[in-house]
Order: sequence, then C-alpha cells, then structure tokens
Amino acid sequence: MRDIVENLVALQGIDSAARNDKNERDGLQKKIQRLKELLVVAGKGLDEKREKLAEASRWYREKDSELKADQEKVNRAKSKLQAVTKNKEYMAMQKEIELLRKANTNKEEEILKLLNVMEEFKIAIAAEQEKISSLEADVNAEDEHNATRIGELDARIDARGAERDAIAGKLAPDLVTRYKRIQSARDGVAIVPVRNQACSGCNFSVPPQQILRLQKLETMETCRNCSRILYWDPKVETAAE
Ligand SMILES: [Zn+2]
Repeated sequence: MRDIVENLVALQGIDSAARNDKNERDGLQKKIQRLKELLVVAGKGLDEKREKLAEASRWYREKDSELKADQEKVNRAKSKLQAVTKNKEYMAMQKEIELLRKANTNKEEEILKLLNVMEEFKIAIAAEQEKISSLEADVNAEDEHNATRIGELDARIDARGAERDAIAGKLAPDLVTRYKRIQSARDGVAIVPVRNQACSGCNFSVPPQQILRLQKLETMETCRNCSRILYWDPKVETAAE
C-alpha cells in the first residue's frame, strides 16, 4: 500500500505540474489571439475612416470644379456686360452677376469648411495609424517571446508524459482509471494529504478512525465528501498546525 500511495502522489505531482504548464500555455495562446483580434478590429475601423476621407475628397473635387465653372460664368457675364448699352438690360445683368457672385462665395465657404474638416480627419487617421503600428509591434514582440515560452512549456509537457507513463505502469490499470475519473471530476486533483484532520481537497473532516487506518497504510481511503483518495503525511499535518 505504501508503494501504491507513493506512486499515486508522484503521479499527482506530475499531473498537477503538467496542468499548470498547459494552463500557462493556453493562457499565452489565448492572450495573443485576443490581441490579434483587437488589431483586426482596429484595422477595419481605420479602413472605414480612410474610405470616408476618400469620399469627402471626391465630394470636394466635385464642388471645386462646380465652383470653377460658376466663376467662369461670372467672367463671361462680366465681359458680356461691357457690350450692353441699354440701361434696363445692364441693370438686370448686373443683378444676375451679383447673385452668381454671392452663390459662389457661399460655395467657397462651404468648400473651405470641408477642407478644414478633411485636414483634421487626416491628422486623426495618421494618429490612429501610428497607434495601431505601435500595438502591432508590441503584439509581434509578445508573439515571438510567447513562442519561445510555449516551446519550453511544450517540451516540458512532452517530457513529463514519459515520466508519467512509467509511474502509471507500476499501478493497477483499474486504479489508474479510478484516479483519472476522480481527477476529471475534481479539478485535476485525485489524491490529497490530510491536513488539520480534514481532507485538504475539500476541507471536510476526516474521522479519527479513518486517520488511524491511513497511518497504518493497509487500505485505500477516500474522502467521504469529495471522494478524493486520501493519504497521511505527518509533515503536512504538522506544518498546518
Ligand atoms: Zn474531500
């Protein structure tokens, strides 16, 4: 029984360490994935803004050529005005020129406003691009750093596999099956020491008769509450007191 318990404890030690390594590896992978997703979203937002700016530029060019055409109209009307001799006709044409000029001034102001907005927008886009580039550099650096760490963790996980199989091979297959079943039901921990006369897995008390049986190492004892396999380790018991 002593050997069985020792092997189970050793197996649990390896499994817990492997579990920690796997959690660390998965955490690193998830984090980098989240960052990459964030970059994609930011990039899409930037593309949308660029598209809006391109749209505004198109509108600006349209308005600008309209304005030029209107100015041309004013110029033509002015030269025609010089040839007009009748007073009534002259007055009417002058009025028309004045209206055209006013309309052009309004259009000019509108275009100027648009140019200002576009300028601000360009600055905002450049700032955002810079932010995204710096984030991208951070993500790439972290990705590289993570790849090294993930490689180390994977190597350790692999190495433990062989060690684990060697120990599991010394135990009866049905015991290994039972151990695995408890592990999957109890957060990866199948065997725990008694601490303060209680199961250190769930803190449920262990009766004195059971502690005696554990100390004698004659039978396999389990926690009445969480069904984890229990073992007695005087160092754990005294360390807790
Ligand atoms: Zn328990």
